[in-house]
Amino acid sequence: MNNLVKENAEKYYAILNYGCQMNESDAEHYAGQLAELGYIRTDDLFQADVIVVNTCCVRESAELRILGKIGELKNVKAHHPGQIICVAGCMAQKDGAALVKKYPQIDLLLGTSYVNSFKKILQDYLEERHRGVFTSLEVQSSEFEGQRVRESGFSAWIPIMYGCNNFCTYCIVPYVRGRERSRSIENILEEVRTAVAGGYKEITLLGQNVDSYGKDFLRNHEEEKLLSVSSAVGEGFTEALKAEPFAALLKAVDAVPGVERVHFMTSHPRDMSEEVIRTVANGTHLCEHFHVALQSGSSRILKAMNRGYTREHFIELVRTIRRYIPQASITTDIIVGFPGETEEDFAETCSLVEEVGFDSAFTFIYSKRSGTPAARMENQVPDEVKHARLQKLMDVQNRQSLCINQKMLGQTVEVMAEGPTEKHQETWSGRTRGNKLVLWQQNYVVNNTDSSETVINEDGGSNLPIRPGQLVQIKIDSAQTWLVKGTRVK
Ligand code: SAM
Ligand code: SF4
Repeated sequence: MNNLVKENAEKYYAILNYGCQMNESDAEHYAGQLAELGYIRTDDLFQADVIVVNTCCVRESAELRILGKIGELKNVKAHHPGQIICVAGCMAQKDGAALVKKYPQIDLLLGTSYVNSFKKILQDYLEERHRGVFTSLEVQSSEFEGQRVRESGFSAWIPIMYGCNNFCTYCIVPYVRGRERSRSIENILEEVRTAVAGGYKEITLLGQNVDSYGKDFLRNHEEEKLLSVSSAVGEGFTEALKAEPFAALLKAVDAVPGVERVHFMTSHPRDMSEEVIRTVANGTHLCEHFHVALQSGSSRILKAMNRGYTREHFIELVRTIRRYIPQASITTDIIVGFPGETEEDFAETCSLVEEVGFDSAFTFIYSKRSGTPAARMENQVPDEVKHARLQKLMDVQNRQSLCINQKMLGQTVEVMAEGPTEKHQETWSGRTRGNKLVLWQQNYVVNNTDSSETVINEDGGSNLPIRPGQLVQIKIDSAQTWLVKGTRVK
């Protein structure tokens, strides 16, 4: 009887996602597979028949938060017999069976290579109810199959490659996500076309080091995975693909009918080529936004980090970007308190931040990751010094961001509307091509796709029709550190 009721009842899933955009994209794939099995999304953990905790272990702080959440799920599960708890992602990969041993509430543990096989693993579990630990890094294809249930209705994350070969000495990613594996260009373009057909207008191509896209195919003599679409973008495309696979991929995505904006991240300063910059400069839908991770402004520390470039190289790269695209938005990641970082090294980071003028920066305190070379280095920087440096760096960056935002005053910029802000339904937010957050007042909302109606009254543009994903023109009239505000003019 119970089984019968269960078979006919609605089934629910919840996903708790942590970490980077790659994890967000993986979470959308888990959601897609759960939807294929008939599960409905819920935010109520007590209602969920399946909970996926998609984990991150890049910094210790994230790990501690996630462990706390996994601990809490024991109580949730006690209220929902039969509930399936699946822990996935980087922590699952790193800690494997030890995690299952410590937290008996975990039913399934999926390392980073098993995103594609989640549906099959879950189906097997529903039949057999055997706890499973899946952590081999060798087994999976990097081609995407199935569907994603995306968080946004207009903006799609699309991974172009998985893993990383760089082994920066502080970073756990290569250990938990394995070596670089590119997706075939046809598989990527197919996903882009499907997203566009589904109403997605903005595509963000994801990879730990997008500039090395496709180089594994060339190294492994698997050129056919690049060349299978040589007819897609016309004359000379085959040669372009062989010479600069990432630049050629950008051109191909730019040419997909219906795409309105293309972003990509993360760029590695050592590998980013002039051809990629030129491609963005000449592109139509390729956004003039470069997320190039600096990490440190000291060449000495960059060497100890195994980053493969110097302070001077980074400055030259920024000059090249600005030569082709003077208005380019440049954002970055920076770590403070790497082992051995002196006050002089740190001062070099601050001075580089001032010299470059990043639009924004993600700033992190170095976190010791067991198993990485930096964790074994001497001269670990004391916590209080790291915290003081972070604060100082954030102050420097905030001044830069404000100064750059103030230069936008009076300009009219193209913004992709995201939707009303949580606090005020009539305040809408959106992003410029450079990924800058813009707020404006909006009184009139249409939900259908026919935006031909235009209503202009004394409120200026605020009464024009709007829907998420629409491109609008906003005249900027005030600037803050994290955002700018304006008035809609079109
Ligand atoms: N692949 C990208 C790159 O090279 O920039 C980023 C990947 S990582 C998930 C995102 C950022 O986390 C890095 O750019 C770095 O600044 C930061 N990060 C990585 N390991 C860290 C650590 N051990 N402590 C603090 N921050 C770290
Ligand atoms: Fe980590 Fe460096 Fe790879 Fe980025 S490039 S994921 S920081 S090892």
